[in-house]
Amino acid sequence: MTFDYDLFVIGGGSGGVRAGRVAAETGAKVALTEEYRMGGTCVIRGCVPKKLMVFASGYSERMAEAEAYGWNVVKGGFEWSQFWPNLRAELDRLEGIYRTNLARPGVEIFDQRATITGSNSVKLADGREFTAKYILVATGGAPFKPPQTPGIELAGTSNDVFLMEDLPKSILIVGGGYIACEFACIFNGLGVETTQYYRGAQILRGFDDEARGHIAEMIQARGVNLHVGCDVMAMEERDGQIWVKASNGDETVFDHVIYATGRKPNTDGLGLETAGVELGRHGEIVVDGYSQTNIPSIYAVGDVTNRITLTPVAIREGQAFVETVFNDNPTKVDHTNVASAIFTQPEYGAVGMTEEEAADQEEIEVYSAAFRPMQNSFIGKDERVLFKLIVSSATRKILGAHIIADGAGELIQMVGVAMKMGATKEDFDATIAVHPTMSEEIVLMKTPVRVT
Ligand code: NDP
Repeated sequence: MTFDYDLFVIGGGSGGVRAGRVAAETGAKVALTEEYRMGGTCVIRGCVPKKLMVFASGYSERMAEAEAYGWNVVKGGFEWSQFWPNLRAELDRLEGIYRTNLARPGVEIFDQRATITGSNSVKLADGREFTAKYILVATGGAPFKPPQTPGIELAGTSNDVFLMEDLPKSILIVGGGYIACEFACIFNGLGVETTQYYRGAQILRGFDDEARGHIAEMIQARGVNLHVGCDVMAMEERDGQIWVKASNGDETVFDHVIYATGRKPNTDGLGLETAGVELGRHGEIVVDGYSQTNIPSIYAVGDVTNRITLTPVAIREGQAFVETVFNDNPTKVDHTNVASAIFTQPEYGAVGMTEEEAADQEEIEVYSAAFRPMQNSFIGKDERVLFKLIVSSATRKILGAHIIADGAGELIQMVGVAMKMGATKEDFDATIAVHPTMSEEIVLMKTPVRVT
């Protein structure tokens, strides 16, 4: 049987673009369709604009520190109207690069929505229908807001942040995960009066307990008005602002409310049921280790599969899919020990297990140091960094590493390499420190703070 395309990719985000480009480079005839902007969540309304906002918001703290180091800082407020066009321009530039990278090896791009009409066919919004030997679904995820909360339609999500033409004076962030904590720090750093409500006892559920406590303390010290064990009961529009009644009894008015209460895989209305593709409990596409669905010609990568919802993982999955299907080299992605960073201020980088997970599994030694780095102690700033290693008593291998410090995202990448190589505590001990740095502590922690 002949097909119009060897591969039809639905979704122009990190996973889809990588798979489409690399498949085309093997000589395959590839089409890719995207209903919004090329680049997906990461480039257009996620990692990239978020990180640029993190940079922008970090200057307020830097300026305060610079004064303590003797600089005469000319005080001036942050101007969203100056930053925002630059941000938009950068995203346009990146989108252009994505398009060029696809077009160069010959990927045909359709800027519209597509639905699956069968195991080897797709239909575009304009009515055209194509056949493909393989279909790759890489449609990502979308923010989820709890629909039952009265007034929920008044609240925005992370998607709306990147479309804001003005900076609010006050904001409420709801949630305690990656996105909520990052945005709370960003807005706080930009001078917005920032409140965060999290329904549980401590933010960042699933991360290391000691690190969670540390980060909560540090972000509050920087000015985020964090309420844990607190949720929104109702919202109403009042005089152009949003009145919020909280479960702790507070009634407060905010300029903006942003919900960062998780994301859901984008599988609605894609025609997956028509093709008989199996979905999981959260609407995610169920795939095997090769990203293949129960329909042999249909694969899925990235957030839509709800495995590890991180850009670099989606990219790896896209690459592995091409190796498997187009290079005759069956390749699985190793989803263990994936390092990630939460771009709070200070940042939190983590790889491997939490202390709690590791202790459940075997006897461990915990090495942990929380201290004021030289840069802070010189200016009397209380903010402490945290370096923590979880070590297997039996094998001596590092099972987990947790770093809270400015630049922790950069540091944890290197620890991730060591852990992938199976590094032991003795390998860390044998490494001579780089002095004076704060990260030297990671090779200098001699005595466990506890053995559990
Ligand atoms: P998360 O799943 O990390 O956090 C969702 C938060 O919302 C949790 O605190 C959760 O509480 C809370 N929540 C869920 N439902 C409700 C509800 N009905 N009412 C009140 N609160 C609720 O999702 P995010 O949206 O923050 O991020 C999604 C994913 O995106 C992350 O898991 C991560 O993989 C990725 N990401 C990665 C980043 C990075 O690498 N730096 C940055 C941003 C996103 P509870 O804990 O009680 O369930």
